[in-house]
Amino acid sequence: MFEKILIANRGEIALRIQRACRELGIKTVVVHSEVDRNAKYVRLADESVCIGPAPARDSYLNMPAIISAAEVTDAEAIHPGYGFLAENADFADRVEKSGFVFIGPRPETIRLMGDKVCAKKAMIEAGVPVVPGSPSSLPDDDPAEIIRMAQEVGYPVMIKAAGGGGGRGMRVVYTEAALLTAVATTRTEAGQAFNNPDVYMEKYLENPRHIEIQVMADGGRNAVWLGERDCSMQRRNQKVIEEAPAPHIPRRLIERIGERCAEACRKMGYRGAGTFEFLYENGEFFFIEMNTRIQVEHTITEMVTGLDLVVQQIRIAAGEKFTLRQRDVQFRGHAIECRINAEDPFKFVPSPGLITNWHAPGGPGVRMDSHVFSGYVVPPNYDSMIAKVITYGDNREQAIARMEIALSEMAVEGIKTNIPLHRELMQDARFVEGGTSIHYLEQKLAQRP
Ligand code: ADP
Repeated sequence: MFEKILIANRGEIALRIQRACRELGIKTVVVHSEVDRNAKYVRLADESVCIGPAPARDSYLNMPAIISAAEVTDAEAIHPGYGFLAENADFADRVEKSGFVFIGPRPETIRLMGDKVCAKKAMIEAGVPVVPGSPSSLPDDDPAEIIRMAQEVGYPVMIKAAGGGGGRGMRVVYTEAALLTAVATTRTEAGQAFNNPDVYMEKYLENPRHIEIQVMADGGRNAVWLGERDCSMQRRNQKVIEEAPAPHIPRRLIERIGERCAEACRKMGYRGAGTFEFLYENGEFFFIEMNTRIQVEHTITEMVTGLDLVVQQIRIAAGEKFTLRQRDVQFRGHAIECRINAEDPFKFVPSPGLITNWHAPGGPGVRMDSHVFSGYVVPPNYDSMIAKVITYGDNREQAIARMEIALSEMAVEGIKTNIPLHRELMQDARFVEGGTSIHYLEQKLAQRP
């Protein structure tokens, strides 16, 4: 096992990784920007290194600074968390070439999955069903061919950036008249935002749910799937609430797709934690992308399986034998996660600043992952998520009831949060029924007086 790990991230996930390390008796090095110097996990770390000023490009995205920090502190491995450099194949490559272990898949796997066109091809080969669409990226010199492809796929279609992420670089097209302009605009945006102008076409599914499968694999023949998560409650393609298991989907369908994902991992020699994201419509799953990192919502899988996914990631990276077998994975109860953001609950304007009073919820079946405390200043420079409230129950009703109580206990003063939105959603008749589509939240928000 490692003696020392460097955590190349911030916020709640830096604390989450640190907790896993401490449980395993591993020392932690935390890198941080100037504005994060007083964070809780920085104070709790065995060592910390300031890697630059607040803007992420100067600190959390600064590869040489992070690798130097690992060198001067004698860390053996680097955990990238999620976001920032977690899915940057060049970073994983540089980490390994500098003699450290990258806690994640091999750089080639990250590179393959980072190009969604290649990822879809790999899935087709592995027998995973994908969203119908263009077989490769769209030609930039053959408009007639693009028009023909769209006719074949059938309107509406979605133009997506091959290198896209974070819910950006996507455009829905309803008519042929709008097609070529949409392709050109998405191409330009993709070039600017992701440094990769390639775009591809998919059938736009009108009312799907977002269902994803968690996997864990050892880079060889052992790969298991750890159930599904329903992440359909989204705004602007960003997840707001997640739950496991997904309501009203027959277990045999989940088992079938889960087994396909595990088999794809074995074929690819996938290493570590990963997520296969699907759209689910009319009883069918369609792959959209794979995330090669730990995800924000890994917590709900932990609640229903009793496994610690971050500990598992570290053990696999350290080369320990991965002994978990599919038959050992048992699903129990129901878990829900609400992402608490520092923002106006209905206007969604970010609300950074000083938290004058902070009271966390507790009680049976309540878990809170957060780096925040009274007196903490939410910096304006990063993602607005400040906490994850997770509740667990024997069944969905109990998990919802516990979430309502947890949210009502929680007190945050000094800044605005989206807790009022979450409280409304816990009472929402359609949410309580379960199985809403990815458009439900936006439709509901549009109807608010
Ligand atoms: P990102 O990497 O930016 O998260 P994804 O490919 O995972 O991009 O898509 C993000 C979200 O966009 C999905 O959860 C879904 O809400 C929507 N989406 C993506 N592809 C389609 C599609 N073909 N039809 C309908 N909605 C889609």
